[in-house]
Amino acid sequence: MNKPIIFCDFDGTITNTDNIIAIMKRFAPPAWEEIKDQVLLQTIPIQLGVSRMFALLPSASRKEITDYILNHAEIREGFKEFVAFTKEEEIPLYIVSGGIDFFVEPLLDGLVPKEQIYCNRSDFTNEKIKIVWPYTCDDECTNECGCCKPTLIRKFANQDDFKIVIGDSITDLQAAKLGDKVIARDFLVQKCEELGINHSSFHSFFDVIEILKKEVLTNASN
Ligand code: MG
Ligand code: ZN
Repeated sequence: MNKPIIFCDFDGTITNTDNIIAIMKRFAPPAWEEIKDQVLLQTIPIQLGVSRMFALLPSASRKEITDYILNHAEIREGFKEFVAFTKEEEIPLYIVSGGIDFFVEPLLDGLVPKEQIYCNRSDFTNEKIKIVWPYTCDDECTNECGCCKPTLIRKFANQDDFKIVIGDSITDLQAAKLGDKVIARDFLVQKCEELGINHSSFHSFFDVIEILKKEVLTNASN
């Protein structure tokens, strides 16, 4: 009876590695590392951390940065098949990403329709790159997420939907807490274990399809 609905992260989940980290490693002065550590330790909010990191980069590098990411990012194995599977099973799929439009949208081009993608935007009109936040936290979230995944879940899921959250890191944790089932890799697995959140771990999206077949579709139909 409970309809499944999927909220899937982008960086480090759909792509093999985190693209913001890759951009900073390649283009930012060393100061970015301290900002990243503060975000991971949750001493500063994600939104502030990402703003500060991109403010280290000149807007003039736009093309160089974009080309670098489009040439280096890899889509995780099985993702295309996973998208086809959700379509076949008529499971709504939302990409909820703390990534930035200038790399998220081209990397998903031809894989996921644009209206299913929710990410941050970029403004290259000033000297340094400015991040624009169209999906900030609602009244119920005080986390200053930047792109607020819990807010998007509240917006798109009905209360009795079976909410599936797919992700890899600290930036998925608040969403994972709202999920009925979390499909996790990397740091998010550890966090789910610590907090006792119902989860399975995955490596490729073929694993995700198997998990959905076994654990979600059988439950959802009764
Ligand atoms: Mg991620
Ligand atoms: Zn939030």
